[in-house]
Amino acid sequence: MSTDCTFTYKTLFGPVPSRRLGISLGVDLVRHKTCSLDCVYCECGATTHLTMKRKEYVSVDRVKDELVAYLSRDEKINYITFSGSGEPTLNEGIGDVIQFLKSDYPQYKVALLTNSTLLDQPAVRRQIKDADMVMASLDAATEAQFRRVNRPHPKLDLNSIIDGIAAFRKMFCGRLLMEYFLVNGCNDSAEELMKLKRILRRIDADGLLLNTLDRPGTQAWVQPVGPDRLKNTSDFLEGAEIVKYKPAPPEMATRHEDLMERLVSTVRRRPYTAQDVSQIIGLDVETVQPVLDRLVASNQLAMRQMDRGLFYLASIK
Ligand code: SF4
Repeated sequence: MSTDCTFTYKTLFGPVPSRRLGISLGVDLVRHKTCSLDCVYCECGATTHLTMKRKEYVSVDRVKDELVAYLSRDEKINYITFSGSGEPTLNEGIGDVIQFLKSDYPQYKVALLTNSTLLDQPAVRRQIKDADMVMASLDAATEAQFRRVNRPHPKLDLNSIIDGIAAFRKMFCGRLLMEYFLVNGCNDSAEELMKLKRILRRIDADGLLLNTLDRPGTQAWVQPVGPDRLKNTSDFLEGAEIVKYKPAPPEMATRHEDLMERLVSTVRRRPYTAQDVSQIIGLDVETVQPVLDRLVASNQLAMRQMDRGLFYLASIK
């Protein structure tokens, strides 16, 4: 395996600071927007490959090579996290990569961010059960809102997904967190939240994260839920944690020579403001801003104005 310091990372991104995961190195196991859902709030843009087919979208050997090269740098990382711009469990090699990390790099914890849609498959549950933490999304309690908010692959139905999450909970010894993304006027009604509460009691996860729109989503009509509503919903759902973004610790200050590569790989997977980028990268805005401007001028990034400010996102070429 290569440990060449000039290695170009295609499947790794970040590391980014995270409230729950500390410093987290991202691993993207699918090509951009290969997903079983096409969520209206998706920060990575519209799903271009809506699929339920599991295959090796990204070569497992390539992922292992990149991990070996990156981890040889001995940087401070708490978690290696499967996430990115699609659904990680669609890669049939995810179990292989988790076992590789557990055997060769036991000092790092492993997390998975999943949309839960494949958890009704016993093979998927077996492959991911050795992760230390799984954050599983569930954005609806009724089929109608599932179709409206998540725009799923036609083969999917919500009840099977809920059964899959509950079955995974029974066999998973790590920490299972559920995440609910509130879309104003859709999945935030009293009736929906009452049903959700019953479903969550059945699943019996270790916690619930409440999220809402903070950056450009796929659909312009999608509106965030306000802070008071978020707080009331959190109280109703028995203390669900409201997602907030965490600034980078000082030791994460990026070497200037890595800046361009990290900016592109990070923003390509999720839109950020210059202020967000500055916190993630650990450098001040005055340093980051000219680099963002250059990446926009060279069409590597695009910009979009939102309530919270000017966001930088992957340009559509
Ligand atoms: S939010 Fe996640 S699950 Fe939904 S479309 Fe985007 S990548 Fe897929």
